[in-house]
Amino acid sequence: MKTRLLITVLWITSFTSCSTAHLHDQASYRIQSGNDLTLLMLTDIHYLSKELTGNGPAYDHLLTNGDGKLVKYSNEMMQAFTFESGMKHPSAVIIGGDLTNNGEKQSHLDLARHLKALEKNTGAQVYVIPGNHDLLNPWARQYKGTHPHYADAINAKQFRTIYKSFGYAEAVLKDEDTLSYLAAPSEELWLLMLDTSQYHNNKLLGRPQLGGRIPPSTLKWIETCSSLAAQNGAHLIAVMHHSLLDHNELLKEGFTVDDNKYVIDTLLRNGITIAFSGHIHMQDIQLQQHNSKPIYDVASSALSVYPHQYGILSYAPANRTLDYKITKLNMELWSKSTGLTNPELLHFNHYSRSILGLQSANRSLAQLKKDHLFSGYTSSQLQVMAEFIGQLNQAYFSGFKGKVEKANLMSTYGYKLWLTAPACALKDYVLELTRQDGNQMQQLHLQLPEK
Ligand code: FE
Ligand code: MN
Repeated sequence: MKTRLLITVLWITSFTSCSTAHLHDQASYRIQSGNDLTLLMLTDIHYLSKELTGNGPAYDHLLTNGDGKLVKYSNEMMQAFTFESGMKHPSAVIIGGDLTNNGEKQSHLDLARHLKALEKNTGAQVYVIPGNHDLLNPWARQYKGTHPHYADAINAKQFRTIYKSFGYAEAVLKDEDTLSYLAAPSEELWLLMLDTSQYHNNKLLGRPQLGGRIPPSTLKWIETCSSLAAQNGAHLIAVMHHSLLDHNELLKEGFTVDDNKYVIDTLLRNGITIAFSGHIHMQDIQLQQHNSKPIYDVASSALSVYPHQYGILSYAPANRTLDYKITKLNMELWSKSTGLTNPELLHFNHYSRSILGLQSANRSLAQLKKDHLFSGYTSSQLQVMAEFIGQLNQAYFSGFKGKVEKANLMSTYGYKLWLTAPACALKDYVLELTRQDGNQMQQLHLQLPEK
């Protein structure tokens, strides 16, 4: 059993900039030296408050034409995650941004209540950073009645207040220009929580800005974090919403952080060899050699998207090893043990897979119908092509279970229609996903360098 000590001295507030004081003199770490750590890596929860939904056409349309996020069961997924985490005894739960569907204030408030319960139930500290959907989002809506209506969004100041107990109050150092902070959950392993989101132009753009960046002042601040960690003999790992490395051909622009070479340079120069990210809603680990030094980007798939997974990161200080693997949220177990009778929850995997197929097909069909390039196709051909994308997403997101599933898909009429289809973004998507072999690195074993 791990010893967890509560921070008893209010040392954090007095610790603001380039102080070189040793933290050992000032703090009791939650997790003492020598203990193994278990960190749960959660991302892209895209929580939608039940208070923002109703029984009308607006909400129905969101559920059947959404972009793959299962917002209908946000609340239940967080309850199941809290239940499941209670059995895993994590040292910390780390959430990589896109906490809410579209930054609605009510969703943030509801999620914060879940996080409070999570901390209470597990004894673990929760650490969050924002994603591109969470702040000043012009798409914040409530789905009541016939049409969606505006819902209140939040700004950075409100974010800090709502998530005060989930990182900002515990921070060892806080960046002045972004919502980035440095956290020290244990003596040996510290977290560089990087806010990569850009939201200041959202109002002007009329949408949440997709791409991410780390401003030069924050890159400079990372050096302060790194030297503080070094003075205290702690290893640093980075957590960010946007990708540090490109994960595939389609998800680069707007997904990988801007000027990633500078960011990689800064991280490596400061002894950081691994970043954990979200944003792409896909499970993928990339390794790149940068000036012959290895750097990793571990993207965890979205909790809100089938098959509803999260990462488990273990750190063993004795040999300085990090082990990462992915696990599926067991909604069925939670529903059963809570005595629920809703078949969608009791057979969640099946239900969620069908919703992903339905939403992908519906969205694709709407897109194809609008596109003049496809005006020569019959409506049943377009239907088959749209359904193919639904099936492809279902198979891809669950990691292409074996070669057979992929071979079966590629022998369908739908795939043949796509092969001869005119060039467009959807065709690129089909070609890119069918190019993937389904053997993407899903786990990682890494030894951190000696301090
Ligand atoms: Fe997201
Ligand atoms: Mn995102």
